[in-house]
Amino acid sequence: MARTVTDIILLGPPGAGKGTQAHRLVEERGMVQLSTGDMLRAARSSGTEMGRRVAEVMDKGHLVTDDIVIGLIAEKLADPDAAGHAGFIFDGFPRTLAQADALGDLLERMGRPLAAAIELAVEDEVLVDRVSGRFTCGNCGEVYHDVTRPTRKPGVCDACGSTDLRRRADDNADSLRQRLMEYYKKTSPLTGYYHAKGLLVRLDGLAPIDRVAAAIAAALPAPVGA
Ligand code: ADP
Ligand code: AMP
Repeated sequence: MARTVTDIILLGPPGAGKGTQAHRLVEERGMVQLSTGDMLRAARSSGTEMGRRVAEVMDKGHLVTDDIVIGLIAEKLADPDAAGHAGFIFDGFPRTLAQADALGDLLERMGRPLAAAIELAVEDEVLVDRVSGRFTCGNCGEVYHDVTRPTRKPGVCDACGSTDLRRRADDNADSLRQRLMEYYKKTSPLTGYYHAKGLLVRLDGLAPIDRVAAAIAAALPAPVGA
């Protein structure tokens, strides 16, 4: 049987569960997660000029400019190390129509059609609890929550054993309000954009993590090697 390369977008407001599900897809299907949020956080902690510029924008909950994030994604797509895997998961990208057009062009030039844009639908009231309880492993990026997904051993990552567990500077109520505003103004129109292309899959992001993972798996072609 032909090997299936499946490139997908995870869409949804901050706290919808995109990073959580992307991690599952990396582990379970050997896909590659491309999170512009993670790339920007790496840039800001590297102390570069670009990092300094984006840190202030991110902390206020605004969107970083299209040219910066499109540049980051284009660089990753050009990386030969990323070839031969089961597919890309675009997590938190695209967030504007300009980014969506740019991604379409990049993938078309590579001869890789998108398989799906999966929207995780979650109501605003739930998102406050989601982001205020979020913490992640600084070593492997595993995503946890104080209530819905605590570590088995307090202070220790289940996945890699690291004790470097972190909270995000922008996971506060003020920043979340601004991030939601940006989401509804600039990102939510992408659901219509991908619906028109026949690629939108809308899933209930309020379901437990395992159920959301099963719904995503059901929406995708069989994994490589299955
Ligand atoms: P996003 O990447 O969309 O911003 P995350 O994957 O970081 O969202 O999830 C936000 C928080 O919500 C995390 O603390 C995560 O553990 C928790 N979470 C994710 N999915 C679910 C779910 N289906 N049910 C309950 N909590 C969840
Ligand atoms: P995330 O980790 O996806 O929640 O993103 C954290 C922050 O990084 C956002 O609030 C934005 O400031 C910035 N960011 C991440 N991805 C993008 C993107 N595709 N376009 C613009 N800004 C982004």
